Amino acid sequence: MEGKIGVTGIKAIGFDLFNTLITARPHAVSEAVERLFNSLKEQGFELEEESFKQAYRENATRIIRETRKDGRETHNRFWISATLNSLGYEVGPYDQRIESCLDSYFSAFLDYCEVIPGTFEMLGAVTGVYKTGLLSNFTHPPAAEQLIDRLGLRPFFEFVLISGALGYRKPHPFVFKRLREEFHVESEYILYVGDDPDPDINGALKAGMQAVWFTYARDHHIPTVPGVGPSGASEPAYDVPRASTWEEFLTIIGRGV
Ligand SMILES: [Mg+2]
Repeated sequence: MEGKIGVTGIKAIGFDLFNTLITARPHAVSEAVERLFNSLKEQGFELEEESFKQAYRENATRIIRETRKDGRETHNRFWISATLNSLGYEVGPYDQRIESCLDSYFSAFLDYCEVIPGTFEMLGAVTGVYKTGLLSNFTHPPAAEQLIDRLGLRPFFEFVLISGALGYRKPHPFVFKRLREEFHVESEYILYVGDDPDPDINGALKAGMQAVWFTYARDHHIPTVPGVGPSGASEPAYDVPRASTWEEFLTIIGRGV
């Protein structure tokens, strides 16, 4: 198509995780909050379920909004601690009791995430041909690493970068700079693939990379998970190639059958 940005001369491909390679079932977040609540009760906090959940939602939303203004990543421990503080408990974010609850919270994601159809076939077709890396916006790196292992994705990537470990989230330039450094490839030869227009597509293009907008989740009306779903614009600011399936993606990069 005329005027459209194509994909040319790539040496490396960076992938987003949520809603690109994997999806979380719609109830994953409510299940996670439920497990968090039960875990806190087991730790001895006397909490009333509805007021806890409402306070958690409010504190999480407020802290996410504040910290992300300048592209920094936050962590669930701050939301949990702020919630407990607002309910009368003096608990710091690094309290051991919060630490144990984090595992309960993220266990829901481990139980309710699945790989998008065709992903393994696509990854098998591109690994070895291109350098491949994973770059995900995720607050709690241990849970993301566990997910990647449990779902069998690890062998396809030379490295995994998680925003929670980097301190910043996509689309912040620092995150894409780290991606380029890991690849040891000039930005113009790097293709980034993701579902979320602003962090993934606009972020990669602003960093001088190429991008493909992967719209499987959007096209299948898969609900976005708060905190890991779209975060702003509903369309990319650039007219990049769009793929709804991994077959379409392989055709776009010239590896179609
Ligand atoms: Mg995503």
